[in-house]
Amino acid sequence: MKKISQTQKTKFIFITGGVLSSLGKGLAAAAIGALMECRGLSITFQKLDPYINVDPGTMNPFQHGEVYVTDDGAETDLDLGHYERYTSAVLGQRNNYTTGRIYNSVITKERRGDYLGGTVQVIPHITDEIKNAIHQLDGETDIAIIEIGGTIGDIESLPFMEAIRQFRLDVGKENSIFIHVTWVPYIKTACEFKTKPTQHSVKELLAIGIQPDILLCRTEQQLSRELKEKISLFCNVPTDAVITAQDVESIYEVPLCFNREGLDDKILSLLHVWTGAPKLETWQELVRKVQHPTNRVIIAIIGKYVDLTESYKSLHESLVHGGIANDAHIELRYVSAEDLENQDSDALLAGCHGILVPGGFGKRGVEGKVKAITYAREKKIPFFGICLGMQLAVVEFARNVVGWQDADSSEFDLDTSHPVIYLMKEWFDYRTNQLQVRDESSEMGGTLRLGAYPCQVIKKTSASAAYGDKEIFERHRHRYEFNPKFRAELEGKGLVISGVSPDNTLVEIVELQDHPWFVGCQFHPEFKSQPLNPHPLFREFIKASLKHSGE
Ligand code: GLN
Repeated sequence: MKKISQTQKTKFIFITGGVLSSLGKGLAAAAIGALMECRGLSITFQKLDPYINVDPGTMNPFQHGEVYVTDDGAETDLDLGHYERYTSAVLGQRNNYTTGRIYNSVITKERRGDYLGGTVQVIPHITDEIKNAIHQLDGETDIAIIEIGGTIGDIESLPFMEAIRQFRLDVGKENSIFIHVTWVPYIKTACEFKTKPTQHSVKELLAIGIQPDILLCRTEQQLSRELKEKISLFCNVPTDAVITAQDVESIYEVPLCFNREGLDDKILSLLHVWTGAPKLETWQELVRKVQHPTNRVIIAIIGKYVDLTESYKSLHESLVHGGIANDAHIELRYVSAEDLENQDSDALLAGCHGILVPGGFGKRGVEGKVKAITYAREKKIPFFGICLGMQLAVVEFARNVVGWQDADSSEFDLDTSHPVIYLMKEWFDYRTNQLQVRDESSEMGGTLRLGAYPCQVIKKTSASAAYGDKEIFERHRHRYEFNPKFRAELEGKGLVISGVSPDNTLVEIVELQDHPWFVGCQFHPEFKSQPLNPHPLFREFIKASLKHSGE
């Protein structure tokens, strides 16, 4: 195992969670990253997830939240989305490990005979594998922020905790710190904050040899000096390292709140890093815009998962970014696609200023989504279709404008005589420089077009008005594609193809003329939008919806 010397460049911040889940550890990590960048430091991140799935690609978004896709095609935990939105870090495969992936690699090595007949054990083999995963980030940036998924006390996170305990021993205190995110509930009946859950949580950490350096306490209100002193005393953490992480209205206030609490100063002094004062102006300006929007826009999202915003995390944020770019507050109306199937469109969609059909897999609710697209097209309401939403916009056009009644995606109807969206049996993957081959029976998860692909934007279209005329790189996660067999006929009837792969074989963006704004894209623009840099398509979609709201 590699040891880090005093001249070690990268400093490590480990973030663990206590008491319960959903305390916003991922956001805290992202906000700390943003503050480090405001100090002029370069940063990267890693998320270590204790579950056994090798990656979250096959997990149900309803249970686990959205699957976030990186440029290099990794299917990752949604926290990587927070990291990339708050900072300029470019993340990929190396930035998300699960227990499954760690074990997979240890077992592969064992089968290959790499352990020379030795007994393979959690300590040291699994823990070394985890440490190696962390060490990959070494030397690249000034700071690496490593977040451990789950909550302290979970059986499955133990090897990760043990690995980071050892890691600090290897690299030294001045090169690594532990931040523990915990909860200080306010009990209304007693009119009191309670520190006991935090005390217990720190005790569990101490039991496995980890003394936190900083406590990030999620609370409803600012913690008083006395409370911080109490927590300090019981948890063996200096008072100035007990940080209030107060609930805020907008998640983009978090970096500034942490800064006011002195968190960035504390981190850097513990890590022996000296920088100038942080440049917070862009974040201050952003928060001002989020807090005081002049306009209001209602956007309907037609989805399969209507109850859980976690399933559409990046999408939700990208719409907020589009709002920021247009000085508008976005009111989201989640509409169940299945409800639309047997109800009048007007009943569910009237009053919306824009309609968005997001990505999705499987047949459930598909006809409801098509119905929403018809509504948007006919009533000239701004429409944005993403991935499945784009595919269904093509299906809708083929059925209701061209008149091919049975037009469909072969994902939903294998026997249609007009499979306008189909499964390509072969395509050239420029990233691996290999011809990819697949069919309906290919292994689940292994056959998606994943990650960033180039797309040429066609002049004088809504797409070029958003992006400019240029080659763009956008991220994909789908199996099915626009079927070139029907391209000429669809174009002949007025479907505009406004983005294509550089060799002109793959259709990446479609739109309609004689409509205020109707755009469908085969990729997922929501994975590349940032609050400080809203994505052009979301910016333009909200702009058109805002215009529609005034009509
Ligand atoms: N189900 C569609 C496909 O596999 C769309 C996927 C998506 O929207 N991400 O092509």
